[in-house]
Amino acid sequence: MTARDTIKSLEEAFAGGVRKAHPRLSIIAPCYNEAATIDAFYYALKTVLGDLSLTPEIIFVDDGSEDETRAKLARFADKDALVKALFLSRNFGKEAAMSAGLDHATGDAVIVIDTDLQDPPEVIPEFVEKWREGFDVVYGKRVDRQSDTFLKRFTAGKFYSLFNSMSGVKIPENTGDFRLMDRRVVEAIKQLPERSRFMKGLFAWVGYNSTAVEYVRPERNAGSSKFNYWKLWNFALDGFVSFSSAPLRVWSYVGAVVASFAFLYASAIIISVLLTGIDLPGYASLLTFVLFLGGVQILSIGVLGEYISRLFIEVKQRPVYIVDRVIESSKAKPHAINGDAAADLAENEASGAA
Ligand code: UDP
Ligand code: MG
Repeated sequence: MTARDTIKSLEEAFAGGVRKAHPRLSIIAPCYNEAATIDAFYYALKTVLGDLSLTPEIIFVDDGSEDETRAKLARFADKDALVKALFLSRNFGKEAAMSAGLDHATGDAVIVIDTDLQDPPEVIPEFVEKWREGFDVVYGKRVDRQSDTFLKRFTAGKFYSLFNSMSGVKIPENTGDFRLMDRRVVEAIKQLPERSRFMKGLFAWVGYNSTAVEYVRPERNAGSSKFNYWKLWNFALDGFVSFSSAPLRVWSYVGAVVASFAFLYASAIIISVLLTGIDLPGYASLLTFVLFLGGVQILSIGVLGEYISRLFIEVKQRPVYIVDRVIESSKAKPHAINGDAAADLAENEASGAA
């Protein structure tokens, strides 16, 4: 290579950063009891990655599966140098599994993807293209959610419109966790210390230059959804309470309005007593007021409870997840508590070099 070539390639590298030189792409795939679909996902992903001119790394995060998923992942990791399998010590939930993946990813860009093929790997090249154009976040936008039931679409729609009107951050409509993030964005998310990790909220909170790529969300390839309505309700509650203090503050206003009405009503009663004397009826209205106020009080105490329970979780400072094992190309070893990605890497490199 002549000096001129070197300067040219350096100039190109600086102009486009790592995005144009030899970028590394990390794929984070959380899985929980996905034995029925994991093979299909792995092969579909490998086909797509083979056509991209970058160095991929596939991080499967097994979120405490009880079926064949772990054995299958161990086999992939053993045979394929691109695959790294993290086994969490139990089921911590998808949000924690994604956090584990982000902590262990080393790529210049990172993609989070479901393993049931509902996030089609074929969209990945479009994500990478947009990233190369300079976007820091490229998220998948579902144009057709016919694969979801009416009730799920309806409740999801209501949740996002309420969330966006009540919290400071805006989550784009019809998006899930399927997205590409630049290294800078990943570092920003890793800085957020909270234990209750509502990832869609955290992704939106960090901001950065974002764009959408539209895709049709197909039915689940095999197996069944891990989210029932009770889980989704708790997930939504977590989202609200983590990103909005409006439910906490609204009670001062409700209280003020109720107190004003009470004052007006009391004035009306005093005036009517002065004008027409004491009148006995009033039992029904009295009971209505007492019950209504009792209900409002219990409700507001419940809201306080929601926030206090989350404060309680935060002050305990427990790790978001615990990694049991990391498996990569025939090196399976027990793992220290809570993934310290930098230490893992150093350790792996050292043991690899030895
Ligand atoms: N998942 C996980 N931990 C859980 C539940 C789900 O890692 O506790 C993974 C799951 O294996 C899948 C992704 O999260 O790759 C999305 O889950 P699912 O398809 O059940 O959700 P849905 O598409 O029905 O919203
Ligand atoms: Mg799914």
